Amino acid sequence: MASNKKLLVLPGDGIGPEVVGETLRIVDWMAKKRSVSFDIEEGLVGGAAYDAHGTALTDETMTDATHADAVLFGAVGGPKYDDLPFELKPERGLLRLRKEMDLFANLRPAMVFPSMVENSSLKPELVSGLDIMILRELTGGVYFCEPRGIEDLPDGSKRGFDTQAYTTPEIERIGRVAFDLARKRRGKVTSVEKANVMMSGVLWRQVMTALHASEGEGLEYENMFADNCAMQLVRTPKQFDVIVTDNLFGDILSDCAAMLTGSLGMLPSASLGAEDPTTGKRHALYEPVHGSAPDIAGKGMANPIAEMLSFAMLLRYSFDMGEDADLLEKAIDNVLAGGMRTADIMATGKAKVSTATMTDSILKELDK
Ligand code: ATP
Ligand code: MG
Repeated sequence: MASNKKLLVLPGDGIGPEVVGETLRIVDWMAKKRSVSFDIEEGLVGGAAYDAHGTALTDETMTDATHADAVLFGAVGGPKYDDLPFELKPERGLLRLRKEMDLFANLRPAMVFPSMVENSSLKPELVSGLDIMILRELTGGVYFCEPRGIEDLPDGSKRGFDTQAYTTPEIERIGRVAFDLARKRRGKVTSVEKANVMMSGVLWRQVMTALHASEGEGLEYENMFADNCAMQLVRTPKQFDVIVTDNLFGDILSDCAAMLTGSLGMLPSASLGAEDPTTGKRHALYEPVHGSAPDIAGKGMANPIAEMLSFAMLLRYSFDMGEDADLLEKAIDNVLAGGMRTADIMATGKAKVSTATMTDSILKELDK
């Protein structure tokens, strides 16, 4: 294992460069103190790329992304770009990355650090120690399937329609990611669909159940309807470990789970591609759940923790550095427990700090 770990950094727009900049200080610390060598390249994406090159993602940067071991992404977009035509919008940069790297598996953990229980809107006993993983299929389903459109009807009214469809291989590949994740976590998978009313759901349930029987040895497994899952998430969220579901239900359930934690500025995500059968490597992109937050950009008040936790996921899933990921997460928890808060997670009796001061404290904690 002589080769360096190739990391492509795409800060993007708004608070993206701010939170990525802070996270690079952590990357630096890891490189020095844990003696790993990262081979870091930086590129432009979103509005920043549009300003420089007239496109939200150049072919060169796209190629760099496919050659990297992992991409650390900030956020894209902002009011400056609101009037651009659809194909030039900053968000197109991210969509192109997802599509060309075939990032079909979207991991969104919902974790509540002990020190952050009070920020949730749920009762402390419901969320204290919460640690669940929503795995959303990201490249198929109703958001992409054809036919779709709006058509004119003979009576003068219109009809809007979409297609929800999943193939056996699409379900199997996301299912395998779910079982792999569960093995590294608490060993439980909940597969979510609406097999009671949707044919794609019937197939999803059949394929997942069969996959569990053939490849899920030792793992606890259950099927659940999406509406029930939404209710259970709010009622007793700690019953879950890994929830695996399609694009549409995953979109909704992951936002729901995110809010259990009560802090947008602290939520990371990972998007993974297929494993290369010869090298065992997969494309991967890590980004905070939050957007470019133009309202607070340039003010030095953004919470850098979601980006840092995204880097922790990168260490765990792309670089096989789980211990270092644990170390970083622990340092963040300790700093929060010590009472430090950026404005977005401020609570009474805590100290309000800037983006940079938050990082200073996390670095100090890492040094301990
Ligand atoms: P997008 O469409 O890009 O997802 P959005 O409209 O959902 O953007 P965000 O950019 O995520 O919005 O911001 C939503 C709100 O949360 C804003 O008020 C923003 O200031 C705040 N926010 C988002 N991220 C952070 C952060 N890291 N630290 C502090 N506040 C944040
Ligand atoms: Mg948003």
